[in-house]
Formats: sequence, C-alpha cells, structure tokens
Amino acid sequence: MKIADYRVTKAVLDRHGFTFKKSFGQNFLTDTNILQKIVDTAEIDKQVNVIEIGPGIGALTEFLAEHAAEVMAFEIDDRLIPILADTLGHVDNVTVVNEDILQADLQERIKAFKNPDLPIKVVANLPYYITTPILMHLIESKIPFSEFVVMMQKEVADRISAQPKTKAYGSLSIAVQYYMTAKVAFIVPRTVFVPAPNVDSAILKMVRRDQPLVTVKDEDFFFRVAKASFVHRRKTLWNNLTNHFGKSDDIKAQLEQALQVANLAPNLRGEALSIEDFASLSDSLLMELTVKD
Ligand code: SAM
Repeated sequence: MKIADYRVTKAVLDRHGFTFKKSFGQNFLTDTNILQKIVDTAEIDKQVNVIEIGPGIGALTEFLAEHAAEVMAFEIDDRLIPILADTLGHVDNVTVVNEDILQADLQERIKAFKNPDLPIKVVANLPYYITTPILMHLIESKIPFSEFVVMMQKEVADRISAQPKTKAYGSLSIAVQYYMTAKVAFIVPRTVFVPAPNVDSAILKMVRRDQPLVTVKDEDFFFRVAKASFVHRRKTLWNNLTNHFGKSDDIKAQLEQALQVANLAPNLRGEALSIEDFASLSDSLLMELTVKD
C-alpha cells in the first residue's frame, strides 16, 4: 500500500489529528496511477536529483524516492514534519527541509545532495495560491534546473503554455517560454484530492532551453514591455504603450518610430505578437525612447 492510497492517507491524517490549512494550499493527492504518471512524465531515474515543493504527507515524495537518486522536499508547514518522519522516516534518499521555498537558500541547500553534479529536476504538486511566484522564483534562480514537472490549476497551465493569438496568451506565457519549453502533459480531475479543490488541475512539463528563445539587449526591459502590452488586453499596443511610457508629443513620436523599426502596426493587440516580435519591440524601444520609466 502507498501513502497515496485513500485508506492510508486517511489513517495517517487521523492518527496525527491533522487538519488542512487552506492558506497553505493543502490538497493531497490520493491516486497512485496519477503519481506514477507524474514520475513517468518527469523521466526520473537514479541519475537525477529531485527538488519537491510541498511534500504534504509524502504521497508524491514516496514515488519520487523510488525512482530518483535523491529527493529534497521543502515543506512550509511544521505540523507536517513529524508526519513525514512517520511516513517516510525509513526512506534514506529523502531529505525534508522545513522551509518556505521562497525563502530557502537553494544554492546552499543543493550542495547537500550526495552527488550534486547530477541534473536536478523540480517535481511538485504546487500550492495553488503561490504557483506563479514559486515558478518564477525557481526559473529565474541561478540554479540550472533541467526540467520542471509540476501540477497546478489547469487555467494557469494553459496560460503558461499558450501560443500567440489565443485568449490564454500573455506576459506569463512569455516570462516562462523565454527560458523553457512548456507543454501540458495531462489533466487531473479535482476528485482525486483530499480535500477536493474547486478547479481541475494539469501537469505542466517545462524543459529548460539551451539558450533563451530570443536574444534581447535588456532582459528586464523586455519583460516590462511584454507586461505593459497586456495590462489592458482589449486595448491596442499603442494604447498600452502610451499608458505605460507617457503621452507627450515627444514620447508619442519616439513610440511611433520604435514600432516602425520593429515593423509592428500600432493598432495590433499584444496577443498578436510573437515572443520574437516582443524582442524586436523592446530592442527598438530601448533605442528610440529617451526616457524609459
Ligand atoms: N505533495 C503533496 C501531495 O501531492 O499530496 C501535497 C501537495 S499540496 C497541493 C501543497 C503543499 O505545499 C502543502 O503540503 C503545503 O503545506 C506546502 N506549501 C505551501 N506553501 C509552501 C511554501 N511556500 N514552501 C514550501 N511548501 C509549501
């Protein structure tokens, strides 16, 4: 029997008198088929180290430990630490760290892997309330995670993996796809969790690119331009850019010039632009604008 078998999960929760904390996004998986599918999707073997965020009572951790070289699991809720000692204390390739993943010094922590030279994959059933901050924190960290296979709300997975000219496409798609390829691997119904969340979930697989998708002169400025272009989705690029950079005659003339250099019509909407278009736009804005705030 696995920790994720409903009867085992229930017995563990009862034995420890555990009550779910909504503020920590606690929805525990109770389906062993789905856990196996997650491990298969992540292509985990004994030549891979894994970082898990939020092990809960250890349902996914147990599967990861069976397949990976080592698992380091970060859990914010200190009430779960004795429970994890109970469910996984006997497994020698799991280290549980009682820390908020957003505060952890990962660079230092990963030195503790017995073989720190192995590729590191991030595999997790993420707490939904901070999916995006966690992902961006990890993707932008200096640690070369090779892959992320993570569960999140289906709607967020759709936004991250979206292509131009679709409703879901926006600055989050660009922020992630700049660094990673992103693809929904499969959908997970809400019924396999205790307690059941209000929405369905998806497993998103992201693989780091050798190089960012586009080359830009200033990364921060590129992300800022992309974000500004989607502030009002239904408005044109021109409206969003003038709202962001200013409406004086000088700025308007510079914006017009930049759009022309980038070969983009001002009446387009942000969603029509590919990531390559945003790269040209931000580079030409960088050249033409005298004030970039
Ligand atoms: N992995 C378990 C499973 O699949 O059954 C639990 C997943 S549950 C959706 C999310 C877990 O993340 C919870 O155990 C929660 O306490 C933990 N968590 C929430 N915020 C966290 C944070 N900032 N850092 C680390 N863990 C966090």
